[in-house]
Amino acid sequence: MPLVTSKQLLERAAQDHFAVGAFNANNMEQVQAIVEAANEERAPVILQVSQGAIRYAGLDFAAGMVKIAASLASIPVVLHLDHGTDYEQNVRCLHAGFTSLMFDGSKLSFEQNVAITKKISEIAHIVNIPVEAELGRVVQSGDKLTKEQVEALMTDPDEAAEFLRQTGCDSLAVAVGSVHAMLSRDAELEIDRIQRIYEKVRIPLVLHGSSGVRHESIVEAIEHGIAKINVATYLNEAFIEGIKEGFAKHPDSVDPRHSLGVARERVKERVREKIRLFKSAGRISASGGFVDAPKQFRSAHLGGTEE
Ligand SMILES: [Zn+2]
Repeated sequence: MPLVTSKQLLERAAQDHFAVGAFNANNMEQVQAIVEAANEERAPVILQVSQGAIRYAGLDFAAGMVKIAASLASIPVVLHLDHGTDYEQNVRCLHAGFTSLMFDGSKLSFEQNVAITKKISEIAHIVNIPVEAELGRVVQSGDKLTKEQVEALMTDPDEAAEFLRQTGCDSLAVAVGSVHAMLSRDAELEIDRIQRIYEKVRIPLVLHGSSGVRHESIVEAIEHGIAKINVATYLNEAFIEGIKEGFAKHPDSVDPRHSLGVARERVKERVREKIRLFKSAGRISASGGFVDAPKQFRSAHLGGTEE
């Protein structure tokens, strides 16, 4: 089916206590693995493209691959910009047919973050495209920070409420204890903070840097307002392991499909695993609506509806 926006999906997820997986892709094999796994699991899915992926594949190519994959599937698929760094990039993605945007102003001052997020929300909302913003800073693995410094970068519930009031954003990425690009899996989320933020804003919350978080902590976070979970590193790892595995099996082959095919399978397995962990499996019926109460999805840009 055609791409859908993330608005209804995330609101539904927050209400029903599951999270929509938002998986990063850079190439055809990753796009196929993500959409095929979600389709087989009957889960709604967000395919997200980072600035790096756009530089690597090209904007039209990145968007085009996801649109084709969505058209072959019978689940709602969203094309999302991950960590858009400026206003112009968001406009370019809007024009290229993205059905969900993000502006990451977490490195800016509160005022600057508000100003640009607001501007993007205004333009995107004209064509019914929702915007994710980020408040507080999800740190990078490798950032040399003390525990106190990390704590100080976390999202403040009152500030989040004020931010929402001023920007009108649709979902909010929060810094609640996860770390970007972490390879071990022992980070613990501050569930209490998630709960306090959600009570104040009542819009779907987004978890970045999930690859390093303990599973129990993720399940608890979903109960308390996290409705979109980004997964990148965990899939990239699987992709590279798959390439090595395929290469080891066919060391003399010059056919790239021997390695890339295995990589695609390994990514697919991990997407499936995450979808089940996020409790989004089995939510979508054969006709593409939600299982229990079929809903119409708003078609991007047209303002119309389609099943
Ligand atoms: Zn992120």
